Amino acid sequence: MEIQSFIPNDHHPFLMAGPCSAETEAQVQQTVDELIQFVPQVDVIRAGIWKPRTRPNAFEGVGAIGLSWIKEAAKKYNKLCTVEVANTEHVEAALKAGIDILWIGARSTVSPFIVQEIAEALRGVDIPVMIKNPVNPDLELWIGAFERMEKVGVKKLAAIHRGFSSYTKTEYRNKPTWELPIELKRRIPNLPIICDPSHICGRRDTLQKVSQKAMDLNFDGLMIESHFQPDEAWSDAKQQITPEQLAKLLSQIIYRENINLEEEEHASLNELRSKIDRIDNYIIQLLSERMGVSEEIGVYKAANNLKIYQPERWAIIVDRCLKIGTINGLSEDFLLRLIQQIHKESIRHQTMVMNKEQ
Ligand code: PEP
Ligand code: MN
Repeated sequence: MEIQSFIPNDHHPFLMAGPCSAETEAQVQQTVDELIQFVPQVDVIRAGIWKPRTRPNAFEGVGAIGLSWIKEAAKKYNKLCTVEVANTEHVEAALKAGIDILWIGARSTVSPFIVQEIAEALRGVDIPVMIKNPVNPDLELWIGAFERMEKVGVKKLAAIHRGFSSYTKTEYRNKPTWELPIELKRRIPNLPIICDPSHICGRRDTLQKVSQKAMDLNFDGLMIESHFQPDEAWSDAKQQITPEQLAKLLSQIIYRENINLEEEEHASLNELRSKIDRIDNYIIQLLSERMGVSEEIGVYKAANNLKIYQPERWAIIVDRCLKIGTINGLSEDFLLRLIQQIHKESIRHQTMVMNKEQ
């Protein structure tokens, strides 16, 4: 995909901060003043103008009137600004107000209709667009949104990872499921990815941990919600932090280096990596052997008219694997997902064999 990066690579991370919502002109101004005071390296000021809320009657944003508040507050310090857009009207108002970067929210990325409408409104316009992941963990839908932008000529693109909603309550407001942004980067290597720890965490005390993880996973930047009076915020009060707290969070991040494979000093790392490669090869070979045995079982079951899935046997396998695995230092969550995947592939092989035998 042809992407022009709008993210400078001379400093790291690319930092976006600002309130969840623009509430009043004074609140935007005060927050930006404090951001510049405590976090002068901030690159982009963010604020929501039109707020997608889960339930009606919640604060739905101040609307177009807030665009000039953000633009002016950012311009005063020579900073860029960004707002969320969700339809043609938003795009037109944001462009008219001179907003520098647009972002598409998680609830919009899920809808190809909405993404296409925004793309049409941007045809021929040279403005950077950041696309948040859809609320559901669907990588193709996320990639599809980038393709829709590319098709209308928007080339300055970036992704924002803000986690995925889940029915069960977890430690996170939105589960990070890090493998998805990692796979996105593998599929579109030149696409910058920003992490939004605020919407992943939904609370303040885990922001540090998630920001650190994003940096360790090679994300290009961070978008963090900051408000001069977070407890009084009209939306997402629990996850916002003051500019001073943001400065502290950033100062505590350990920025680790990228690895240059050519360098001599990493010879011992390369040795360990070869070891990993050998073990991975071995695991794959063993899995393939395991599927061979599954196929033999499939032949037997077909000949004896037996069902593929036997719940008692599966329960025993899971118990045994969890027991041996946890003794060996692997987490229960990982073991369960691993054995489920192996089981799924095993069923696929048996189904194939049984259908052939019929
Ligand atoms: C936001 O950034 O304030 C927002 C509404 O985010 P998301 O689309 O990730 O929920
Ligand atoms: Mn928010």
